[in-house]
Amino acid sequence: MMKSSFNKLCNRIKNIGNYSRTKYGAIAFVCVAALYVTETHAQTSGGITVRARGVSGAEHINLKVGGVTVANWTLTTSLKDYVYSGTASGDIQVQYDNDATGRDAIVDYIYVNRETRQAENMKTNTGAYANGACGGGSYSETMNCNGYIGFGYTYDCFSGNCGGTGSGSSSSATGGTTACKGYVGITFDDGPTSNTATLINQLKTNKLTPVTWFNKGQNVASNSALVAQERTVGVVQNHSYTHPHLPTLTYQQIYSELSQTNTAIQTAGSPKPTILRPPYGESNANVQQTAQALGLRIVTWDVDSQDWNGASTAAIVSANNQLQNGQIILMHDGYTNTNNAIAQIAANLKTKGLCPGRIDSSTGRAVAP
Ligand SMILES: [Zn+2]
Repeated sequence: MMKSSFNKLCNRIKNIGNYSRTKYGAIAFVCVAALYVTETHAQTSGGITVRARGVSGAEHINLKVGGVTVANWTLTTSLKDYVYSGTASGDIQVQYDNDATGRDAIVDYIYVNRETRQAENMKTNTGAYANGACGGGSYSETMNCNGYIGFGYTYDCFSGNCGGTGSGSSSSATGGTTACKGYVGITFDDGPTSNTATLINQLKTNKLTPVTWFNKGQNVASNSALVAQERTVGVVQNHSYTHPHLPTLTYQQIYSELSQTNTAIQTAGSPKPTILRPPYGESNANVQQTAQALGLRIVTWDVDSQDWNGASTAAIVSANNQLQNGQIILMHDGYTNTNNAIAQIAANLKTKGLCPGRIDSSTGRAVAP
C-alpha cells in the first residue's frame, strides 16, 4: 500500500469517531505502526521529501524554498519520493514549469519538519485548472498548468505535533510534545545589527522560534548576509529604511522608505515582506495608503517590553509574561538585557502552554506557525 493512501486512511480513521473500533481496529494498529516509522524518520533534521508523479513522465518540477530553487526533478509516471537534504529555510513551493499537452504534475504530499503535508490540504495551487482557466486553484494535488503548490514555511507545524521547532533535536526534554494552548508573536525591531548572531543563538538554544524580525532597510543593505541567519529562526518584515517618523513625510517619501526596504530584504534572499511595523508605531492616512499600495499590513504590538527604554532583564521577562493568545510583544535586536531575557521568556511561555507563532498578515494576530 502506498504511504500516501496510508496517511489518508489514517487521517480518515482519526476523523471518524463513530465507527466501530472492532471494524477498524487492525487498520488503526497499522496506523500507529506507520506513525512510529514516521517518528524514526523524524530523527534527521532539515530536508524536504516531495512525493510526486507525472501523467506523461516528462513533467519537470522545482522545489523552491524562500524563493530559491534548491532542487529540481523530472517525474516518472509512478509516485516516487524526491529528496532534498539541505537546510534551506523559508516558504516552500513545488513548482511545475514545462506544461504541454498530455502533461500534468501530481504532488501527493511533502514531508518536512517531521510532518506530512498533503497537497490537497494546501490552500494555494496556482497550477490547477478550475472554472475553465489556469490558476487560482486550491486544495488540489494536480497541476494541470504551469504553477506551484504552496506548502507553508519549513518550520510550520500544521499537525501540531512536530516534536519541537529547534533543528537538530529529536525530542523535547520532557519526552513529548505539549499541545500549544495559544500562540504569541515574538518580535525584534531595528536589526540586523552586530547583536543579531548572539540573539539568534539565544533563540535557538531556548527554542523560542519562530520569531518575526522587523528590519531597517539600511541595516539590511549593509548586513545582508545576516538576513539568511535571521530566517533560520523566523520571518523578516519591513520596519522602514531609515527609521523616520513616517507621518512627517510626504506620500512619495514614505513610498521610498517602504519600497526600498522591501527591495533590500528581497535582494538579501527573503520573500517579499507582507507586514510593516512603522517606527514608533506611528501611522496616518498617507502611511496606511502607502502600505496598502505595497501589499503591507500595518502591525504594531500589544505589549511593549520597554527594552529600548533601558528596561532590566527582569522587566523584559515580566512584560512578556503579560502576553495572551494571539498577542504580540515589542522587543529589539541590540540590547544585552533582551538577549539575557530569552531563556526565561521561553521557560515562562512553556509553563503557560503558549508557543511562539507567526504573525498572520490578514488578521495581524499571532497564530500557529
Ligand atoms: Zn524601531
